[in-house]
Amino acid sequence: MKVLVLNAGSSSLKYQLFQLPEKQVLASGSVERIGESKSGIKHKVYQSGSASGKITLEVEIPDHKVGLEKIARLLLHGNTSVIKDQEEIEVVGHRVVHGAEKFSRPTLVDAGVLDELRKLSYLAPLHNPANITGIEVSMQVFKKAQQVAVFDTAFHQTLPSHVYRYAVPNELYTKHGFRAYGFHGTSHRYVSREAASFLGIDNDSFNAISIHLGNGCSMTAVKEGKSIDTSMGLTPMGGLMMGTRPGDFDPSLILFLGHALKMNFDEVDKLLNKNSGLKGITGENDLREVIKQYEENDPQAQLAIHMYIYRIRKYIGAYAVALGRVDAVIFTAGVGENSPFIRKEVCTELDILGIQLDEALNSAPSEETREIQHEDSRVKLLVVPTNEELEIVNEVVELTTPGE
Ligand code: AMP
Repeated sequence: MKVLVLNAGSSSLKYQLFQLPEKQVLASGSVERIGESKSGIKHKVYQSGSASGKITLEVEIPDHKVGLEKIARLLLHGNTSVIKDQEEIEVVGHRVVHGAEKFSRPTLVDAGVLDELRKLSYLAPLHNPANITGIEVSMQVFKKAQQVAVFDTAFHQTLPSHVYRYAVPNELYTKHGFRAYGFHGTSHRYVSREAASFLGIDNDSFNAISIHLGNGCSMTAVKEGKSIDTSMGLTPMGGLMMGTRPGDFDPSLILFLGHALKMNFDEVDKLLNKNSGLKGITGENDLREVIKQYEENDPQAQLAIHMYIYRIRKYIGAYAVALGRVDAVIFTAGVGENSPFIRKEVCTELDILGIQLDEALNSAPSEETREIQHEDSRVKLLVVPTNEELEIVNEVVELTTPGE
């Protein structure tokens, strides 16, 4: 069986085609700038799990349907062909950002589910409408395939109510669903399971602090394999400092922006989602650039790095308390996997929590799951490369093969 994983954004479609049961990647790629003047496709083909060829096409892609049809054509024809018949793709797994309380598991999509998803769009207006478009066009292009939605929020549906509720009037929750949901759940679930398996610990008794540091950043306290607290809330804006998002701040800032600075909601939205975080402090949202400036003693970059690190350390302390016992701290995503500097700064002087980094292991280059703690460290420190597409396939398999 073959499973296509689709991640639809407002102007992009990212995809990976997997062969099951091996879960081997056959092809991957992305359609970029859909509906814009310079749209195109980057497509890679794999043999025995390794990339064996790639092409870049500049073609007009007016909408997501045309984009997906072009993907199907690349999978079927010419020297990029990896399937003979479109019907070989039996399942399309879709990343959906917000499932609210309605969807705590991967879900087979039918017209009723699509309606429910549309009703939830108000909770994730930047993401869910694009995810829904991805499902709709996939239903048209891959007519015979099952469409499965996998939710970023689902892993966090085990948060207890005293964690997910905000201390605001009840009806905001009961009528409008205003609560913390948490995001990056597919990544936190994947890396925490990988870490447990790597350490030979039963996932159901594994306690970990999972730190996802990419463009978006979030942390999760995983107790006995389940999410019990996470740093993002109603939307992916809260918690840690990110590339362009602020993380936690006093919400009355928003009143100030409106009342004193006379900003409207669209301006506030842009300021908080696109122009805050590292970018707000340094003008740069890419951490590599900020680290470069930090090393040149730029004061704003120094401030930004200290803010970024301090927030992560504060959450480690909070989650150590929430968990009671920490088996492992896991670093993942673009920054977590690739920056020994950030990992070192985060782990410095955490002996109080039984956390001690081994500097040589931390700086040794590797793309594999690995341990980086000092031999005296009570807590294991791991770098685990995340793989959200593979986790979507894992979840699709759990859904479509009952009893496994
Ligand atoms: P992701 O969202 O997981 O793809 O992560 C993307 C982010 O990872 C980029 O914005 C970079 O800032 C960051 N990144 C990638 N490599 C490094 C590195 N070697 N050091 C610091 N940050 C990195």
